[in-house]
This record gives sequence, structure tokens and C-alpha cells, in this order.
Amino acid sequence: MDRVLSVPFNHQQLALLDRYTAVPGAYSTLILQALAEAQPGCQQAQLSSPAPPPPKRRQLAQHLLEPGTGIAVEVKAGQVLRIAQVEGGQCGDLNVYNLQNGQEHLHVGRTRHLHGPHPTTGDLLWSCAPWERPLMAILQNTGVCDTTFASCSTLGYSHFYNMPQHINCQQMQIEAQRAYGIGPWQEHDSFNLFMYTVSDSEGNPGIDRNGAGPSDYIEFYALTDVLAIPNVCGDDLGKTSNFWQNHLSVIVEEALPEDRQRAEDFTKPYQNSVVPVPYQMKEVPLRRDPDYTPHFPHLPLRIHQVEVVLSEQDQQKLDAVHNPGLYGDDLCAALRDIVMDWADAKNNASLPGYSHH
Ligand SMILES: [Zn+2]
Repeated sequence: MDRVLSVPFNHQQLALLDRYTAVPGAYSTLILQALAEAQPGCQQAQLSSPAPPPPKRRQLAQHLLEPGTGIAVEVKAGQVLRIAQVEGGQCGDLNVYNLQNGQEHLHVGRTRHLHGPHPTTGDLLWSCAPWERPLMAILQNTGVCDTTFASCSTLGYSHFYNMPQHINCQQMQIEAQRAYGIGPWQEHDSFNLFMYTVSDSEGNPGIDRNGAGPSDYIEFYALTDVLAIPNVCGDDLGKTSNFWQNHLSVIVEEALPEDRQRAEDFTKPYQNSVVPVPYQMKEVPLRRDPDYTPHFPHLPLRIHQVEVVLSEQDQQKLDAVHNPGLYGDDLCAALRDIVMDWADAKNNASLPGYSHH
């Protein structure tokens, strides 16, 4: 018996599929073609096992980040910032500034230098020169953090997809940091949250499907007053967030004595290494603009349901290639992955030169 699935796509995804449809709007034909060409194992990735819940602390602030948005939150020394999955599978970017002097900010390169490409529990977020000191300590990481990729940006979508109007982390950061008077030219390199990156045999980094489940989270202990700016990654054309845009939860809490103890233990090996800055510099404190209202570009995301009629043979094929370890029984998400991955591969093949995006 035939089975009808109603698969949600957003307008950015359909803009890519539009390039490969024989007749405008014939998405279901394209989906069936991609399904016919899909190989078993094409959705290799596994959701992480459920994470233990975070400790109970006094909550100071909570925000639900919508797709296409970010937020600047103050995290004072001795407070904990938790960035958590909601539906699961969602990558995020994080930028961090010293709240009392916005010239000092997270330096992803130094962080990578000291902790490798995938910093995790027990590692520190380091600031730029000339300060070069830890701003935050990673108290708990149940996902994967990445320091190898720059944020997705206008240039990236323009160059790789000819879509300069695509939602991107770079512009979300600029809009979120504007709340504290940080100019577009001051945006720093991103620390990538829940980003499942891998290296190929030549050491070139690539992005894999997202293994974060709904219970995964990353907690940072503020070692000094910071302005933390997380955003929901806008990549829905690649594997970064399993070809969709979901929510992220952002929570600030009062640290427990054991959090302070752990952060102290994590910083101890570096205490004698951090050298006082030998320069006289005017500090620039970051203060919230009371008139700020966010206007994130390229929104709203318009969702369209595409109806696909699967024959018994199509259903058997989908059963054989879909990865229940990643998508459970959400056949629509699995089918969207198949056709978007197919289109992304076709797009990649059309690009000249290096294209590890
Ligand atoms: Zn992004």
C-alpha cells in the first residue's frame, strides 16, 4: 500500500532544491530520485546516549533561542552559563567578551592551541592577547565542541551556494552583540557548540551529522564577568544540524560550591603561567543599550510541507537507508536528510577547488 508523508522544508532549502527540479515545484519527484540513489549507511551518525541532568542550582535567567537568532547575556564571575538542546541535533556558535572591557574577548586559536580542536569538560576558554587568560571554564560538556571551523557567514553561503541572503551565524552575532554597542567589525572567531567535526586522512576538517540528543548541554563557569553571545547555527543546507534549524536553551545560574571548586581545579595548572599585562590601556566596559530591540536579518523562515507518495518499494528503500539511531521513527526528517544531502553533494561537485564546508 502507498504511504503519504508530509515532509517539512524551509524556503532556504527549497531554493537549493529548485536548482535540480525538472519542473518548478516538483519536489516530490526529486525526493524519490534521491531516495532511489541513496545507499545504506548514508546517514552515519548516532545520537549520544541520554545525558545525566545538570545539578540543581538557583536560576538567574532563561532564554529560548529561536532559529535565526542569538542573544547577549551577562554572566558574572561565579555564575554558570548552560547552553542546552531542546529538540536535539542543533549546532550553536558562542562568542565571549570581557564585560568590564570589551576589547578583551575569547581567542579561539589560543583555546585550540592549549586544548586541541575539541575542548571539553575541564578545558578553558582563553582570551586574546595581550591578556591571554581564561575567561570561562567548561564545567560539563555532553556534546562536541569545535574550534576548527569559522562561523557560517554571508561569504560562505554566497561562495558555496550562491545564496548571500541565507540566515548565518556571522550576522546573528553582529545583531546580538549590537545590544552592548559592539560593532560589526569587532565580531571574533566563533567557538562552535554541538558541532560534530571530523578530519579526513589528509587532516582536512569536515562537518558530520549532529549527534546531540534533547538532553545534551554544555556548561561554562565564568571566571570573570563576561558577556556571552550564543546563537542558533543557521546551516540547514549541510549536515551541521541534520538539515534543519531547531531551538537552543540558554540558562544562567548561581554556581554551587562544588562548581567553584571544579573551576579552580581546572585553572590551577595555568595559574603560574598567566603573566600580568605590561601595557597601560583604557578599559571599555560593555553596557546594554536600553533602546536595543533585535532585528535579525533574513527572517522569518517559511516552512512548506511537501507531500510525497511512497510506493511499497520506496518504503522498503527508506527502511533500508534511514538511520533510526539518528532519526528514530521520524521518517520525514530522515527523508529530508536524504534529499538535502543529495542536493548538497550535487552542489559540492559543481564547486571549484577546496570545499570543506
Ligand atoms: Zn552557523
